[in-house]
Amino acid sequence: MYIGRFAPTPSGPLHFGSIITALASYLDAKQNNGQWKVRIDDIDSPRIVEGAESLILKNLESLGLFWDDKISRQSENIQEYKNILEMLKGKNLTYNCNCSRKQIALSNQSDLNEPIYNNHCRGMQHPLSNKSAIRLIADYKSMQFIDRTQGPQSTDINNSAGDFIIKRSDQLYAYQLAVVIDDQLQSVTNIVRGTDLLSSTIKQYYINNLLNFPEKTYMHIPIATINNRKLSKGNGDKVNNNNFSLVLIEGLKFLKQKIEKNIEDASPREILKYAVKNWDTIPLQQIKDIELNPNQRVIADNAHT
Ligand SMILES: [Zn+2]
Repeated sequence: MYIGRFAPTPSGPLHFGSIITALASYLDAKQNNGQWKVRIDDIDSPRIVEGAESLILKNLESLGLFWDDKISRQSENIQEYKNILEMLKGKNLTYNCNCSRKQIALSNQSDLNEPIYNNHCRGMQHPLSNKSAIRLIADYKSMQFIDRTQGPQSTDINNSAGDFIIKRSDQLYAYQLAVVIDDQLQSVTNIVRGTDLLSSTIKQYYINNLLNFPEKTYMHIPIATINNRKLSKGNGDKVNNNNFSLVLIEGLKFLKQKIEKNIEDASPREILKYAVKNWDTIPLQQIKDIELNPNQRVIADNAHT
């Protein structure tokens, strides 16, 4: 059975970019007669804003995006992250790293935003301190998977082969480890999310394999941009519109879906029913980002205009 998910960080209300991810993952799950689950990614505590979780859930309900099963939260999974980290340690697959950001940047041999670590601390047996990061020994040079819209992905394409952090120096579990465990705990089979996460997917794919979890299917959809910048908090950070039908229609236009005139004024429920039936991922192939149209910019309520 298809089980999809939407996993927002409660750092604020949904913005237009996150609505697109919610919408695409919902439509894909429902067209495949699957379940659509919601998880609140709430362990990155510096980013958490109080009250954001209930705003996000209210936004989803207003849009008619009702979830299956109970809401899950990363904060409920901490013990499981700990168990798996201990298991990896027991297999000598981790090491403590005390490198500073500056050292890592200097050793970087990649032109990507995310530096490639040169495995400097591997084998050094640093004692664990409360300032150490923990890295996973990752021999994943020949990994590859097929993304449903972005095609074949491999470490060669992403140029990202280096031991990577699974527990951060601020002692929070890293996204790469947490997301794999979270998805497994929710029995997720299909992951639909923005292309901003495409380059790190190979790491999650590697961990998923290493832990012998069933393989997941990935589809990365275009991310919303304004003036070539990713839509994010402070740059269109809330949906300033009570016309939820319009928000859905503009979301569908962004996702290059067919829209018939008579559906534009329908209720969110009717729009979603129509959109599930007509959901088509082919127009999204090989597209990494899409500039918002003027209507979509209004919905996104660009804070700078
Ligand atoms: Zn190091």
